[in-house]
Amino acid sequence: MNQGRDKPRRFPLPLDKLQASPARDARAPAVSRELLRPQLHLQQAAKDAARQTPPSGLGLDSAGVRLRMVQRLRAEGLQDERVLDALSRVPRHEFVDSALAIQAYEDTSLPIGHEQTISKPSVVGRMIALLMAGASASQSGHLGRVLEIGTGCGYQAAVLALLGRRLSSIERLLPLHEKARSNLAGLRLSGVRLVYGDGRLGDPAMAPFDSIIAAAGGDDIPPAWLAQLAPGGRLVAPMQAPSGRGQVLVVIDHVQGLQGSQFVRSLQEAVLFVPLKSGVM
Ligand code: SAH
Repeated sequence: MNQGRDKPRRFPLPLDKLQASPARDARAPAVSRELLRPQLHLQQAAKDAARQTPPSGLGLDSAGVRLRMVQRLRAEGLQDERVLDALSRVPRHEFVDSALAIQAYEDTSLPIGHEQTISKPSVVGRMIALLMAGASASQSGHLGRVLEIGTGCGYQAAVLALLGRRLSSIERLLPLHEKARSNLAGLRLSGVRLVYGDGRLGDPAMAPFDSIIAAAGGDDIPPAWLAQLAPGGRLVAPMQAPSGRGQVLVVIDHVQGLQGSQFVRSLQEAVLFVPLKSGVM
């Protein structure tokens, strides 16, 4: 309805009526001085909009947001600077659905489709720091030949690629294997081999490995992983807790002593990973 269309317009006032002379402006009460400067509201609206912009590059500053994530991880006890540096270099927001990008630098796991999740940055950092503390990696300062089971969206694979000499990463779900391939393509990482297959069998063609890491947990550690772990190498994986309740992080070192090869196992903290399944889909 257009009632009063022909009446003189009282509100909103035309802009020329709002241009008060300095003298009138000075006499006017504070509230009307405010009203005489409509651009103030525009400026405020622009500031509000800026605050709601996703905190990263996502816009312009994804490196800055990542750096703050790394500072938080350091403050929470992640000490390995090489791992922190690698985490600061991989754009996690590019590995998740754009609707979730705003949460990419929070310490939270996120869905990546097909009932799978990308691990929390603190868990990725913790597991890779454990790998870096293995005998081979401590000596060389890098992860060497790496096997990852559970490529998922490829985020952790990118972090591993920065810290190793070469990486085989296996995924059993074809759509995720393909998603990881496209996610990683733009990063131009060298020495990354993505395998579509059942990771419980490892990657015999590329064995042995100095570092093995799993992003899915089963009842026990598949024998193929131990068979493919080089002497001096370390494996870090979630596994069903011995109590049968929940999962626990397991570290296994391949130690070669006078009595031959030994696998030394230690249990770390409780964790929560998706199940390690058999076969491919
Ligand atoms: N590291 C991943 C996390 C993926 S979640 C990331 O950064 O995104 C764990 C993944 O393990 C899932 O994609 C799941 O499909 C996969 N997975 C489970 N069992 C597997 C198996 N036997 N072989 C290979 N991948 C497996």
